[in-house]
Amino acid sequence: MKLKVPENILSLTPYKAGKPIEELEREYGISGSIKLASNENPMGPSPMAITAMKNAMANLHRYPDSSGYYLINKLADKLSVPKSQIVLGNGSDDVIGMLARVFLTPGDEAIMTSPSFLMYEIFVRSMNAKPVFVPLKELSVDLSAIGKAVSEKTRIIFITNPNNPTGSYVTRDSFESFLSQVPPQVVVVLDEAYIEFARDPKCLDGLALVGADRPIAVLRTFSKAYGLAGIRIGYGVMPAEIAALLNRVREPFNTNSLALAGAVAALDDNNFLNKTKTLIHTELKFLQDSLKKMGVICFPTQANFFLIDVKQNADAIFNAMLKEGIIVRSMISYGYPEYIRINVGTHEENIRFLDALEKVLGKEC
Ligand SMILES: *Cc1c(COP(=O)(O)O)cnc(C)c1O
Repeated sequence: MKLKVPENILSLTPYKAGKPIEELEREYGISGSIKLASNENPMGPSPMAITAMKNAMANLHRYPDSSGYYLINKLADKLSVPKSQIVLGNGSDDVIGMLARVFLTPGDEAIMTSPSFLMYEIFVRSMNAKPVFVPLKELSVDLSAIGKAVSEKTRIIFITNPNNPTGSYVTRDSFESFLSQVPPQVVVVLDEAYIEFARDPKCLDGLALVGADRPIAVLRTFSKAYGLAGIRIGYGVMPAEIAALLNRVREPFNTNSLALAGAVAALDDNNFLNKTKTLIHTELKFLQDSLKKMGVICFPTQANFFLIDVKQNADAIFNAMLKEGIIVRSMISYGYPEYIRINVGTHEENIRFLDALEKVLGKEC
């Protein structure tokens, strides 16, 4: 074909998602495998969300409510923010895309950490804008280096808190002093996909900082703590002026009817959210204590996942773990050749993971 493909599109590599369980089982002809690679909720979806989505199925011949009326009302209530500050997305990924479409023109710069969530770079490059990478410092977001990377061309700064893939966090104090130095035309995106799991009281909660005059956009998702990754629903909270701009580029039916119904119900399911948090925190301690006993280094986290130093090629460990029916995430493509990332599973899954890792490490060493 004689296509004229723009350079910026040719520069993209497709997002490599965590390997799906079905694919592993197909390839290896095994069953009963477990996935600890995509930071999903090991408890499944919120049961109240499942019921609501089943009920919503009878109306699937209708287009979804483009305004997301019930979900936006519920969120505004729960978060104590004006409705005009909320933008819903087909996952929070979709909101990142809208921010990129609104603010980036060719040649503009968007700052992100290295490594960081791969979707920032993909959306920035799609707009033919330039990602500017600022290395993490000891696995944490280096706010002062980010401040120094700001130029005339900077339009967006992406900060993930708690950070993926490292699990580190930004404190409220350090963020506030950073913010005071950011030029007023730069939009600071705080991606809080894992904020529900954060326990350190010093950890920044961006919502309190969203005000009419500050260009901050806080992104949240139902994919992690609420167990709804498969239905795709997330949102951003930002000044109404910015939300209105995003609505200009938002696809009219970007959030589907099942997702809208499921998310409304999930927000009422406090029992599920509390159980999720208790499971993650109890099992996180169990996993990290057990790994330490095995002499394996793991890093502290404020999220539902953490990094493990396997002291050898992470892809080799990833492949060896696959043969044991366990999907983890190799950190090679993130610049950590000897780290893997796992998310916390159920107690049974975690025991299987520990047994398999012990076996695999014993064999390879
Ligand atoms: C999982 C994750 C998200 C959530 O994406 P959705 O599109 O809402 O599923 C966003 N940001 C980061 C850093 C994540 O790890």
